[in-house]
Amino acid sequence: MVEKKLKSAYEFTWKNMEVGNIITEPGNASARKTGDWRSNRPILDKEQCSKCAFCWIYCPDAAIKQEEDGYFVSDLYYCKGCGICANVCPKKAITMIEEVEE
Ligand code: SF4
Ligand code: SF4
Repeated sequence: MVEKKLKSAYEFTWKNMEVGNIITEPGNASARKTGDWRSNRPILDKEQCSKCAFCWIYCPDAAIKQEEDGYFVSDLYYCKGCGICANVCPKKAITMIEEVEE
């Protein structure tokens, strides 16, 4: 809460900000269905994929899992649709498509 009136924007620091989201326990991301945030989803073309694992390495949400056949597939329960996997894929095997209501 801003307790005193600020004279200029230069006086505003993080100490003046409202308390936001509070993480009360570490490692709780797996409990959140972050896939609901997605507006685009990655589609893998296995014909193009070389199983290099770049997408798995770069996914900021650790939402890509390797399946038994060796391919790396997005877990749509967690994937936020950022498109990084599609951007780093050297084979252009991942295409982002618009999410549709199911
Ligand atoms: S779109 Fe983003 S969050 Fe989803 S699998 Fe690709 S890199 Fe991960
Ligand atoms: S980065 Fe592309 S080629 Fe490499 S494993 Fe992922 S989808 Fe396959």
